[in-house]
Amino acid sequence: MLPKARFPRFPRAKLQFINNNIGGNMNNNKNLHEIPVTALRGVGGVKAKAYAAAGVHSLLDLLYYFPRAYEDRANIKLLAETSPEYKSAVVMTVATEPKIANIKRGMSLLKFRAFDESGVCEITYFNQNYYKDKFSVGSDFRFYGKVERVKSRYSMTSPAADPWVEELPPPPFFSVYRLSEGLTQKQISQNVADALELASQSMPDPLPEEIRERNKLCTIYYALRQIHFPESYAALAIAKKRLIFDEFFLFATGLALSGRKIQRLSAPACKNTDISPLLARLPYKLTGAQERTIADIAHDMSKGEQMSRIVIGDVGCGKTICATVAMYIAVKNGYQAALMAPTEILATQHYNDLCAIFEALGIRCALLTGSCTAATKRKIHAAMKSENPDERLDIVIGTQALLSDGAEFINPGLVITDEQHRFGVNQRALLSEKNKHTHVLVMSATPIPRSLALVMYGDLAMSKIDEMPPGRQRVDTFLVDESYRPRLDAFIRKNVDAGGQVYVVCPAVEESELEEGEIDLSEIAIYGEELVRNEKPPLKAAVQYAEELSERLQGYNIAFVHGKMKTADKDRVMRRFASGEVQILVSTTVIEVGVNVPSACLMIVENAERFGLSQLHQLRGRVGRGQRKSYCVLVSGAKGRLGDTAKQRLQTMCNSYNGFEIAEQDLKLRGPGDFLALSGNASIRQSGTLSFNIADMCEDSELMTTAFSEAHEYLKTDPNLQNHAPLRQAAERMFEVQGDIIS
Ligand code: ADP
Ligand code: MG
Repeated sequence: MLPKARFPRFPRAKLQFINNNIGGNMNNNKNLHEIPVTALRGVGGVKAKAYAAAGVHSLLDLLYYFPRAYEDRANIKLLAETSPEYKSAVVMTVATEPKIANIKRGMSLLKFRAFDESGVCEITYFNQNYYKDKFSVGSDFRFYGKVERVKSRYSMTSPAADPWVEELPPPPFFSVYRLSEGLTQKQISQNVADALELASQSMPDPLPEEIRERNKLCTIYYALRQIHFPESYAALAIAKKRLIFDEFFLFATGLALSGRKIQRLSAPACKNTDISPLLARLPYKLTGAQERTIADIAHDMSKGEQMSRIVIGDVGCGKTICATVAMYIAVKNGYQAALMAPTEILATQHYNDLCAIFEALGIRCALLTGSCTAATKRKIHAAMKSENPDERLDIVIGTQALLSDGAEFINPGLVITDEQHRFGVNQRALLSEKNKHTHVLVMSATPIPRSLALVMYGDLAMSKIDEMPPGRQRVDTFLVDESYRPRLDAFIRKNVDAGGQVYVVCPAVEESELEEGEIDLSEIAIYGEELVRNEKPPLKAAVQYAEELSERLQGYNIAFVHGKMKTADKDRVMRRFASGEVQILVSTTVIEVGVNVPSACLMIVENAERFGLSQLHQLRGRVGRGQRKSYCVLVSGAKGRLGDTAKQRLQTMCNSYNGFEIAEQDLKLRGPGDFLALSGNASIRQSGTLSFNIADMCEDSELMTTAFSEAHEYLKTDPNLQNHAPLRQAAERMFEVQGDIIS
């Protein structure tokens, strides 16, 4: 049974106003996404601009503009219990009549005293003369704000004040929105309240009733109302659960729908290419998995319609050669090819590896990155477009610089993105726009179970490389706890002294935007029937860790990278590590996928229980790339605190070395969260197109599994989402700006 809602009341007149403004009929407001925010009272051009900056254009956008946090005003304190540093809620009785003092032109003070059983407080407001009538002597209010204290005298300045009636207390939570310039908390919450009132008449529920009930989810209207104006902690959790479920469900159904709509464009038919001259240049024989993948690619490219394929395989399994063959096929058929890597260091590595092979085969190849001089860029741009086949570049390897204006091929045939998840969809969209009729090949180092890959990559055809080149060393993996610290330090020294390099990975620590007393939306969760406040165990903060480590390991060259650093700065540190100058690299998980540092032989993962197995496996893949015997040490957090399942999970890492096997295990144990986080939704989210608004793929992986499997089932009976119009609309809306995710 859901709690009954109590909600802000709106004067009739206001409702009328909204009504007139949209010129519509209240019963026919199905298309909240078509009603601009300017339909709301008090929202004109300027405010609408401010909203637009926050991505809010329509009433529906506004309803989905969730608070970033909530002030907990239900935690009532006595004056004597408050701290001047934090905002508190205090219930007091007005003791003196408010007095107004006009201190200068345009500025007045309104002051009065109020008390509770622990003291008396002077309350001041600026320019709020009309409050004179609000605070009548003897009435009770709940004041919320910082309480200052000088000796035994308390004071509050401009506190929020709600009339206090014990039996019917004012709302316990107050929503805090992310503000863009020109908006205030008050304005947003007023506008949201108006929009909710409008929506209350008929808010179509995108979720089919049956699915909603089976999963014990509240209605969409209840969810939206409670997420903005929660009447209790429980109601908030219920609302959040529903909204998270929706995001996943709409994502899965929308993806399936847009995948179905994609038509294959034509692309060069690259037929019967003899690749033996290229293979003859390799110092090794292809593995069976590589041969299969190359056959897939060659077949795709021969058909005259666009190839759209993803090659998935563990770090080090040899994806690059598959890409190389694909480029060779394109070039031998008279077309040009591009290989795009997410970072300069990766692009350069590819170039250095491939350029000699290509040139020996008479293929012209260049490297294009952001740090090329303007003159070099101009030269490369010109050679890409050259009419003269003797001057024309056949292959360009590079970074996002390949997307900039001027970098156009005259005769494009193939575009490859390596470690595609590092690119936002925007960039990929651009790539496919510019090279509309080219083959597309994508490579990813995350071994993803097929079931999940289908959801994530829509209709990209998939080749799996599930076999490592022969003679690969196994990276011995150990699980230890804090008590091993001194031995671990000694082990680091030993490896570095012998000329090896060490990675240390700590979980990322997000800086909190919260003030004391606020509850972050992410802290609220409901699992099964149980309501929980997520409390995260203390983490080894990467910065602090790097400092401690430098103290303990003096004389060693230690550097630090983290996710908030600029790409160029990250690249610089990575390059210093790759060159051997930096011996120990402490990082959050941002360390570049695919970067090859052959003398790295020790990977230490702190708070390993915080990572998914697939993430750990990827991290482990950073070492063991050279001749040195390599190790991975998983350090679990506090001693003895690791639960059995967590231990069992980490133990899997010590026993299994196959990425796909580990991935299956991970999917069973943790749900799909890790994969989505690893495989790029994080970057998709950053790029701002596919925004999971409220869902967190890692925290909510359980809900995601349910939502995905519900979506999967639903699509079986209604593949085109024709049976439930609101679902189709919502799914389409989710993808109308992000339909390119699969291209
Ligand atoms: P990834 O799949 O992570 O991109 P790479 O393509 O960079 O892996 O390959 C990793 C290393 O393995 C490279 O040094 C490459 O030359 C080597 N390699 C690739 N295929 C084979 C093979 N069949 N036999 C031996 N070595 C191989
Ligand atoms: Mg690679």
